[in-house]
Amino acid sequence: MIKLENINKKTYNRQTGDLETEESVEFVCPKCRHLISEGDSFCWFCGEQQEQVVSVEHYVLGKKLTSTEFKEAKKKSSHDLKTLIDSLPDRA
Ligand SMILES: [Zn+2]
Repeated sequence: MIKLENINKKTYNRQTGDLETEESVEFVCPKCRHLISEGDSFCWFCGEQQEQVVSVEHYVLGKKLTSTEFKEAKKKSSHDLKTLIDSLPDRA
């Protein structure tokens, strides 16, 4: 399985009035890229066997980042994050 580490859309914090980003982790099948669960031993969609995490991908606001860029992105405030993402090249 491929592990996806995501930083998602901003959500409004009612206490502080700040916009915050949410982090989430997902797993997808390397063959068909359907979402699967971490403990699945095979893909429910295509039947591909899932033994372990074969690679990790990072996405910020839907854009794919390298692990180095992702580390930088995690330090940014939500406003600076958008600026950082816009400055990075698009990747497939
Ligand atoms: Zn699959």
